[in-house]
Amino acid sequence: MIDLTGKVALVTGGSRGIGRAICLQLADLGADVAVNYRGNAEAAQEVVDAIQAKGRRAIAVQADVRFYNEVEAMVKTVVKELGTIHILVNNAGLTRDNVMMRMKEEDWDIVIDTNLKGAFNCIKAVQRTMIKNRYGRIVNIISIAGIGGNAGQANYASAKAGLIGLTKSVAKELGSRNITCNAVAPGYIPTDLTADLPEEFVEQARKLTPLGRLGTVEDVAKVVAFFASDAAEFVTGEVLRVDGGMIF
Ligand code: NDP
Repeated sequence: MIDLTGKVALVTGGSRGIGRAICLQLADLGADVAVNYRGNAEAAQEVVDAIQAKGRRAIAVQADVRFYNEVEAMVKTVVKELGTIHILVNNAGLTRDNVMMRMKEEDWDIVIDTNLKGAFNCIKAVQRTMIKNRYGRIVNIISIAGIGGNAGQANYASAKAGLIGLTKSVAKELGSRNITCNAVAPGYIPTDLTADLPEEFVEQARKLTPLGRLGTVEDVAKVVAFFASDAAEFVTGEVLRVDGGMIF
Protein backbone atom coordinates (compact mmCIF):
# COMPACT_ATOMS: atom_id res chain seq x y z
CA MET A 1 0.00 0.00 0.00
CA ILE A 2 2.90 2.33 0.65
CA ASP A 3 4.46 2.90 -2.74
CA LEU A 4 5.95 6.30 -3.42
CA THR A 5 7.29 5.54 -6.90
CA GLY A 6 7.14 8.66 -9.07
CA LYS A 7 6.68 10.99 -6.12
CA VAL A 8 9.03 13.87 -5.30
CA ALA A 9 9.61 14.79 -1.65
CA LEU A 10 11.20 17.83 -0.02
CA VAL A 11 12.41 17.16 3.53
CA THR A 12 13.61 20.14 5.57
CA GLY A 13 16.49 19.45 7.93
CA GLY A 14 17.11 16.24 6.00
CA SER A 15 20.84 16.19 6.62
CA ARG A 16 20.84 14.69 10.11
CA GLY A 17 18.82 12.84 12.75
CA ILE A 18 15.13 12.24 12.15
CA GLY A 19 15.13 14.16 8.85
CA ARG A 20 17.91 11.97 7.47
CA ALA A 21 15.94 8.82 8.37
CA ILE A 22 12.83 10.28 6.70
CA CYS A 23 14.78 10.97 3.49
CA LEU A 24 16.10 7.40 3.39
CA GLN A 25 12.71 5.86 4.24
CA LEU A 26 10.89 7.83 1.51
CA ALA A 27 13.59 6.84 -1.00
CA ASP A 28 13.30 3.17 0.05
CA LEU A 29 9.61 3.41 -0.83
CA GLY A 30 10.37 4.83 -4.27
CA ALA A 31 10.41 8.61 -3.90
CA ASP A 32 12.94 11.06 -5.30
CA VAL A 33 14.12 13.35 -2.53
CA ALA A 34 15.35 16.93 -2.08
CA VAL A 35 17.41 17.05 1.10
CA ASN A 36 17.30 20.49 2.71
CA TYR A 37 19.97 21.60 5.14
CA ARG A 38 20.98 24.88 6.75
CA GLY A 39 24.73 24.65 7.30
CA ASN A 40 25.95 21.07 7.17
CA ALA A 41 26.53 20.54 3.44
CA GLU A 42 28.73 17.50 3.97
CA ALA A 43 26.04 15.64 5.94
CA ALA A 44 23.40 16.54 3.34
CA GLN A 45 25.61 15.28 0.51
CA GLU A 46 26.12 11.99 2.36
CA VAL A 47 22.31 11.53 2.46
CA VAL A 48 22.08 12.40 -1.26
CA ASP A 49 24.77 9.80 -2.07
CA ALA A 50 22.91 7.14 -0.03
CA ILE A 51 19.64 7.88 -1.87
CA GLN A 52 21.29 7.83 -5.28
CA ALA A 53 22.85 4.47 -4.38
CA LYS A 54 19.27 3.20 -4.02
CA GLY A 55 18.62 4.25 -7.65
CA ARG A 56 16.52 7.32 -6.82
CA ARG A 57 17.09 10.93 -7.78
CA ALA A 58 18.26 13.21 -4.97
CA ILE A 59 19.62 16.70 -4.55
CA ALA A 60 20.88 18.71 -1.57
CA VAL A 61 19.29 22.15 -1.22
CA GLN A 62 20.60 24.77 1.18
CA ALA A 63 18.13 27.17 2.81
CA ASP A 64 17.51 28.55 6.25
CA VAL A 65 13.79 27.87 6.66
CA ARG A 66 13.41 30.97 8.85
CA PHE A 67 13.65 33.19 5.79
CA TYR A 68 10.92 33.16 3.13
CA ASN A 69 13.17 34.38 0.32
CA GLU A 70 15.58 31.45 0.90
CA VAL A 71 12.70 28.96 1.05
CA GLU A 72 11.14 30.32 -2.15
CA ALA A 73 14.46 29.98 -3.97
CA MET A 74 14.87 26.44 -2.62
CA VAL A 75 11.42 25.38 -3.85
CA LYS A 76 12.17 26.84 -7.30
CA THR A 77 15.40 24.82 -7.44
CA VAL A 78 13.65 21.59 -6.43
CA VAL A 79 10.90 22.05 -9.04
CA LYS A 80 13.51 22.86 -11.70
CA GLU A 81 15.75 19.89 -10.83
CA LEU A 82 13.21 17.20 -9.86
CA GLY A 83 10.15 18.39 -11.81
CA THR A 84 7.64 19.06 -9.03
CA ILE A 85 6.93 18.50 -5.32
CA HIS A 86 4.30 16.02 -4.08
CA ILE A 87 5.44 15.59 -0.48
CA LEU A 88 6.67 18.23 1.96
CA VAL A 89 8.04 17.18 5.34
CA ASN A 90 8.57 20.10 7.72
CA ASN A 91 11.19 18.55 9.96
CA ALA A 92 13.81 21.30 10.47
CA GLY A 93 13.90 22.23 14.11
CA LEU A 94 16.04 23.21 17.05
CA THR A 95 15.81 23.81 20.78
CA ARG A 96 17.12 26.53 23.11
CA ASP A 97 15.94 25.16 26.45
CA ASN A 98 15.75 27.18 29.64
CA VAL A 99 13.29 27.99 32.39
CA MET A 100 11.14 31.05 31.72
CA MET A 101 13.08 33.07 34.29
CA ARG A 102 16.31 32.66 32.32
CA MET A 103 14.97 32.34 28.76
CA LYS A 104 16.30 35.15 26.59
CA GLU A 105 14.24 36.89 23.94
CA GLU A 106 16.56 35.54 21.23
CA ASP A 107 16.02 31.97 22.52
CA TRP A 108 12.29 32.48 22.09
CA ASP A 109 12.64 34.05 18.64
CA ILE A 110 14.98 31.52 17.04
CA VAL A 111 12.91 28.55 18.22
CA ILE A 112 9.60 30.05 17.03
CA ASP A 113 11.13 31.22 13.75
CA THR A 114 12.73 27.86 12.95
CA ASN A 115 10.09 25.40 14.13
CA LEU A 116 6.89 27.35 13.41
CA LYS A 117 7.58 30.10 10.90
CA GLY A 118 9.85 27.73 8.98
CA ALA A 119 6.90 25.40 8.37
CA PHE A 120 4.67 28.34 7.40
CA ASN A 121 7.30 29.51 4.90
CA CYS A 122 7.66 26.06 3.33
CA ILE A 123 3.92 25.39 3.06
CA LYS A 124 3.38 28.85 1.55
CA ALA A 125 6.15 28.27 -0.98
CA VAL A 126 5.03 24.78 -2.11
CA GLN A 127 1.26 25.23 -2.07
CA ARG A 128 1.02 26.69 -5.58
CA THR A 129 2.79 23.62 -7.02
CA MET A 130 0.61 21.24 -5.01
CA ILE A 131 -2.61 23.05 -5.96
CA LYS A 132 -1.59 22.90 -9.63
CA ASN A 133 -0.98 19.14 -9.24
CA ARG A 134 -4.23 18.71 -7.30
CA TYR A 135 -2.10 16.52 -5.06
CA GLY A 136 -0.08 17.12 -1.93
CA ARG A 137 1.04 15.43 1.27
CA ILE A 138 2.32 17.76 3.99
CA VAL A 139 3.73 16.25 7.18
CA ASN A 140 4.79 18.48 10.08
CA ILE A 141 7.12 17.10 12.73
CA ILE A 142 5.96 18.41 16.07
CA SER A 143 6.72 16.95 19.53
CA ILE A 144 4.86 15.59 22.50
CA ALA A 145 6.08 18.80 24.20
CA GLY A 146 3.64 20.64 21.91
CA ILE A 147 0.78 18.50 23.23
CA GLY A 148 1.59 18.41 26.92
CA GLY A 149 3.93 21.36 27.45
CA ASN A 150 7.32 20.87 29.10
CA ALA A 151 9.12 22.73 31.89
CA GLY A 152 12.21 24.38 30.43
CA GLN A 153 10.81 24.33 26.91
CA ALA A 154 8.20 27.14 26.81
CA ASN A 155 9.57 28.36 23.47
CA TYR A 156 9.77 24.91 21.88
CA ALA A 157 6.42 23.67 23.25
CA SER A 158 4.74 26.87 22.03
CA ALA A 159 6.23 26.49 18.55
CA LYS A 160 5.16 22.86 18.34
CA ALA A 161 1.68 23.61 19.72
CA GLY A 162 1.42 26.37 17.11
CA LEU A 163 2.27 23.80 14.46
CA ILE A 164 -0.80 21.80 15.51
CA GLY A 165 -2.95 24.86 14.73
CA LEU A 166 -1.12 25.34 11.44
CA THR A 167 -1.61 21.65 10.56
CA LYS A 168 -5.35 21.69 11.24
CA SER A 169 -5.89 25.02 9.45
CA VAL A 170 -3.96 23.98 6.33
CA ALA A 171 -5.86 20.67 6.32
CA LYS A 172 -9.14 22.61 6.17
CA GLU A 173 -7.87 25.19 3.69
CA LEU A 174 -6.30 22.84 1.14
CA GLY A 175 -8.39 19.68 1.59
CA SER A 176 -10.58 20.46 -1.43
CA ARG A 177 -7.42 20.42 -3.59
CA ASN A 178 -6.53 16.86 -2.51
CA ILE A 179 -3.77 18.12 -0.24
CA THR A 180 -3.52 16.54 3.20
CA CYS A 181 -1.68 18.01 6.16
CA ASN A 182 -0.88 15.94 9.24
CA ALA A 183 1.48 16.12 12.21
CA VAL A 184 3.74 13.51 13.77
CA ALA A 185 4.67 13.99 17.44
CA PRO A 186 7.77 12.03 18.46
CA GLY A 187 8.66 11.37 22.08
CA TYR A 188 12.31 11.27 23.12
CA ILE A 189 14.50 10.12 20.20
CA PRO A 190 18.31 10.00 20.55
CA THR A 191 19.82 12.44 17.98
CA ASP A 192 22.21 15.42 18.06
CA LEU A 193 19.27 17.51 19.32
CA THR A 194 18.92 15.47 22.49
CA ALA A 195 22.60 14.50 22.93
CA ASP A 196 23.13 16.94 25.81
CA LEU A 197 20.22 15.73 27.96
CA PRO A 198 21.36 14.15 31.26
CA GLU A 199 21.41 10.36 31.58
CA GLU A 200 18.74 10.55 34.37
CA PHE A 201 16.33 12.18 31.91
CA VAL A 202 16.95 9.43 29.37
CA GLU A 203 16.42 6.72 32.00
CA GLN A 204 13.21 8.41 33.14
CA ALA A 205 11.97 8.56 29.53
CA ARG A 206 12.64 4.84 29.17
CA LYS A 207 10.78 4.07 32.41
CA LEU A 208 7.76 6.13 31.34
CA THR A 209 7.51 4.31 28.02
CA PRO A 210 5.13 1.33 28.16
CA LEU A 211 6.82 -0.24 25.12
CA GLY A 212 9.96 -0.36 27.24
CA ARG A 213 12.54 1.19 24.96
CA LEU A 214 13.57 4.53 23.53
CA GLY A 215 12.26 5.50 20.11
CA THR A 216 14.46 5.51 17.04
CA VAL A 217 14.65 7.84 14.06
CA GLU A 218 13.28 4.97 11.96
CA ASP A 219 10.19 4.69 14.22
CA VAL A 220 9.35 8.28 13.29
CA ALA A 221 10.26 7.92 9.60
CA LYS A 222 7.88 4.96 9.13
CA VAL A 223 4.92 6.99 10.40
CA VAL A 224 5.87 9.94 8.21
CA ALA A 225 5.92 7.57 5.21
CA PHE A 226 2.38 6.46 6.08
CA PHE A 227 1.08 10.05 6.08
CA ALA A 228 3.05 10.77 2.88
CA SER A 229 1.43 7.85 1.10
CA ASP A 230 -1.99 7.06 -0.34
CA ALA A 231 -2.54 4.63 2.55
CA ALA A 232 -3.45 7.82 4.46
CA GLU A 233 -5.33 9.52 1.61
CA PHE A 234 -8.47 10.10 3.74
CA VAL A 235 -6.59 11.29 6.82
CA THR A 236 -5.96 15.01 7.31
CA GLY A 237 -5.59 17.42 10.22
CA GLU A 238 -4.47 14.53 12.40
CA VAL A 239 -1.78 14.51 15.11
CA LEU A 240 -0.17 11.15 15.78
CA ARG A 241 2.15 10.53 18.72
CA VAL A 242 5.16 8.28 18.10
CA ASP A 243 6.31 7.91 21.68
CA GLY A 244 5.88 4.26 22.63
CA GLY A 245 2.82 5.20 24.69
CA MET A 246 4.82 7.46 27.02
CA ILE A 247 2.66 9.01 29.74
CA PHE A 248 2.86 12.74 29.20
P1 NDP B 1 18.90 17.32 14.74
O1 NDP B 1 19.47 18.43 15.55
O2 NDP B 1 19.54 15.99 14.77
O3 NDP B 1 18.75 17.78 13.22
C1 NDP B 1 18.16 19.02 12.93
C2 NDP B 1 18.08 19.23 11.44
O4 NDP B 1 17.39 20.48 11.21
C3 NDP B 1 19.43 19.33 10.77
O5 NDP B 1 19.34 18.71 9.51
C4 NDP B 1 19.63 20.85 10.60
O6 NDP B 1 20.42 21.20 9.47
C5 NDP B 1 18.20 21.29 10.38
N1 NDP B 1 17.94 22.69 10.68
C6 NDP B 1 18.00 23.32 11.89
N2 NDP B 1 17.69 24.62 11.76
C7 NDP B 1 17.41 24.81 10.44
C8 NDP B 1 17.02 25.93 9.67
N3 NDP B 1 16.84 27.14 10.22
N4 NDP B 1 16.82 25.76 8.33
C9 NDP B 1 17.00 24.56 7.75
N5 NDP B 1 17.37 23.46 8.44
C10 NDP B 1 17.57 23.60 9.76
O7 NDP B 1 17.36 17.21 15.24
P2 NDP B 1 16.35 15.96 15.28
O8 NDP B 1 16.57 15.09 14.13
O9 NDP B 1 16.34 15.38 16.64
O10 NDP B 1 14.95 16.74 15.14
C11 NDP B 1 14.24 16.79 13.92
C12 NDP B 1 12.82 17.29 14.21
O11 NDP B 1 12.18 16.39 15.13
C13 NDP B 1 12.78 18.68 14.85
O12 NDP B 1 11.67 19.41 14.35
C14 NDP B 1 12.56 18.35 16.33
O13 NDP B 1 11.93 19.42 17.00
C15 NDP B 1 11.67 17.13 16.21
N6 NDP B 1 11.65 16.30 17.41
C16 NDP B 1 12.78 15.67 17.85
C17 NDP B 1 12.73 14.87 18.98
C18 NDP B 1 13.92 14.17 19.53
O14 NDP B 1 13.81 13.61 20.64
N7 NDP B 1 15.05 14.11 18.83
C19 NDP B 1 11.48 14.71 19.74
C20 NDP B 1 10.36 15.40 19.18
C21 NDP B 1 10.45 16.16 18.06
P3 NDP B 1 22.05 21.37 9.57
O15 NDP B 1 22.60 20.02 9.72
O16 NDP B 1 22.46 21.98 8.29
O17 NDP B 1 22.30 22.23 10.77
